[in-house]
Amino acid sequence: MKIRKILLLFAVCLFCSLSVSAFDSPKIKVGLNYADSAIAGEVTLSFENGFQVGYVADDCMFMPFNFFAYEKAIVKADSDSIRILGDDGDLLYEGYSGVAIGICPISSELDGEDHISYTKIGSIKYPEVLQFSANSGRITIINILDAELYFKGVLPSEVYPSWHEEALKAAAIATRTYTYHSMSGKHLYLGFDVCDTTCCQVYSGITKCQSSTNKAVEDTRNLILTYNGGLITSVYHAISGGITESAAGAWGGNPENYPYLTVVETPFENYSEIARGHWTKTLHVEDFYSLISASQFAGKISSSIVDITIDDDTPGYLNNMTLTDDTGRSIFLNTSSDIRSFFSVLSSNFTIGKVYTPQPYATDSASVITADGIEEYSAGTYAAILSASGKETVGGIKRAYFLNGKGHGHGVGLSQYGAQYAAKAGYTYEEILAVYFPGTIIENYALYQQN
Ligand SMILES: [Zn+2]
Repeated sequence: MKIRKILLLFAVCLFCSLSVSAFDSPKIKVGLNYADSAIAGEVTLSFENGFQVGYVADDCMFMPFNFFAYEKAIVKADSDSIRILGDDGDLLYEGYSGVAIGICPISSELDGEDHISYTKIGSIKYPEVLQFSANSGRITIINILDAELYFKGVLPSEVYPSWHEEALKAAAIATRTYTYHSMSGKHLYLGFDVCDTTCCQVYSGITKCQSSTNKAVEDTRNLILTYNGGLITSVYHAISGGITESAAGAWGGNPENYPYLTVVETPFENYSEIARGHWTKTLHVEDFYSLISASQFAGKISSSIVDITIDDDTPGYLNNMTLTDDTGRSIFLNTSSDIRSFFSVLSSNFTIGKVYTPQPYATDSASVITADGIEEYSAGTYAAILSASGKETVGGIKRAYFLNGKGHGHGVGLSQYGAQYAAKAGYTYEEILAVYFPGTIIENYALYQQN
């Protein structure tokens, strides 16, 4: 065991120098626990071969100053200190709470194409460096890793690893482009580039990595999408329903701002084969009451909607709609995301029509003369009358609206299922991206940064 630890020491030093210099893609900082999600008190880590402790420079360079062959460690925080304890309770490190400290797993002889060393928190495996800092006893955790490795972690959460390799490659490029485009954005003030939720892209370390999605990332290494020399906003969604939505239609604004996020017809997307690809919804007065109460229009219109006007005649996603109640009051929904949100449906790619359904009489009881004589009815049943054509059931009429929908998501940019259907139809990843992001070109990010 002692010999193994000594060997590990050499492996540590070798790994430290290699791990920060061998990559040609940038490091990315992923916020795992921060602000309200910062961990109170302590967090337990586990390792395959022990771990290194070190500082992390502003440029993400990890500078280890110690290593430990423990299988578990506990990071503890109180009001003014952060400590690392071994699983035997030994104090391994103590510092001021505001000073970030990095922990990196010791590399394994298994490391290679099918194995990457990791630090485990719960059931999640994080590669490379985890950075810990503390504030008022709460621990902030940031994963700092090679961007290409981050993409391998993200892709299995966005697509099915069993999908066609051309669809996976298209998705890998969209994921990479989206990440680089958003890295200078909303989370920088918290000290990281992206978070690990749907706010950015879902990331659970390398836990879900599959060889097919890893290969898609490697086969498209550093490839990104640009338009007029700039990184594009490569948004994507699950299923478009055979036609996409424009950025302006979905979120408002000037269509000229995103000329590559425009409406594209995609007849190869066989959305009706997918469970979420084709859906319906019937809305009665009581349903409108719930929808209106939950919306920004609560109190501004009654649930007795007598008219719904679609204010555009283009096919596909609805992005302009007026609803009017029985007192003449109206509300306006001016983007497809507003419409999707208001109706609480999978997408705004739907048609809407009135339907009338017969309802039981809302009386306590009734007596009617039928062809069979006098019949008594109690509350909640249909009555019958004798007409020229015989005995007919009658009741009240209930007005409802019927939504016939396609697709799932905002509909803008790449349809993930659409890419899969396109790949199965023989499209290459270049052709798939050219369909969904018209006018864009594929470039190498390393070269892009030099220009
Ligand atoms: Zn985010």
